[in-house]
Amino acid sequence: MMHILHRVGKGLEAGVAGESMLGGIGGFMLELEGKTALVFGVASEESIAWAICEQLAAAGCKLILGFQKRFMSRVFQLKEKLDAIEAFYPIDVSTNELTAEFFTEWQAENHGAKADIVIHAIGFAPQECFDRPILFVENEPINTAMTVSAHSLQRVMRHALPHLAPNSSTITLTYAASTRWVPHYGVMGVAKAALEAWTRELANHVGPDGHRINAISPGPIPTLAAGGIPGFDDILDHVERNSPLRRNVNQKDVAGCAVWLASPLSSGVTGQIIHVDAGYSSVMVPDSISD
Ligand code: NAD
Repeated sequence: MMHILHRVGKGLEAGVAGESMLGGIGGFMLELEGKTALVFGVASEESIAWAICEQLAAAGCKLILGFQKRFMSRVFQLKEKLDAIEAFYPIDVSTNELTAEFFTEWQAENHGAKADIVIHAIGFAPQECFDRPILFVENEPINTAMTVSAHSLQRVMRHALPHLAPNSSTITLTYAASTRWVPHYGVMGVAKAALEAWTRELANHVGPDGHRINAISPGPIPTLAAGGIPGFDDILDHVERNSPLRRNVNQKDVAGCAVWLASPLSSGVTGQIIHVDAGYSSVMVPDSISD
């Protein structure tokens, strides 16, 4: 510990974070004041992306929101709640053209503007993906789930890249059904596995230019997207009983991690899947087995 403090006192030699985040001993700072974040995935006040907006705003970020047209009126009502929101533009990540629309509109009003942070908090699968046995789900709903929930990260990054500030940080949201089976999650488990692979692939693609991409894997949280998953309340009960912290996480827990990933405090972290799940993913045999 003494050794570490000594090094910190002198200033860390390594990397961007070492130089920028320390204002002296104990001076760890988020350094997000005045940064610009593009946030995709706000549909309601329950959205994980909304909690991320609130925390980024509290840290001094300016926010540009991309909204899906079907949620337009709800999203516009949220404007009053957060002064940090500078603009809204429509986005539909299911196609290249509709993804481009956001960036074209943003740049038309703010020529040459750069983003330091990108939040990709987007997931969708047609209800058939959850309701039918996975073997019998048709191609079209599978393709929709994959393109919106996984491949859209690549699409968003491709359009965002020319407008990213140096050392930018992109954060997506995944779920542990990517690596372990969860009842009813079905095709979304496959999509989240692909999303995590995209995270690693893209992190390695943009990493040499200093940009970072990570995924947060939250435990279950009641939101609009979660409402479509049969048996979701049972999963909430199970996690509350069996996670090391004996509770479920909430949007604010996830937002805290997102702010850290957005900031230079995490400057050495990229291509990672970070669990914010009250520790549930660390358990194989829960304590409750003896009940
Ligand atoms: P939410 O319903 O509030 O957010 C989902 C968002 O995806 C909405 O804003 C919606 O507009 C957007 N979206 C869907 N299709 C889109 C499209 N074609 N183009 C643009 N945007 C589109 O739910 P949430 O739980 O906050 O979900 C955010 C992310 O968190 C998702 O990726 C979800 O899979 C992930 N996640 C959620 C939980 C949970 O339990 N809620 C757990 C782990 C991961």
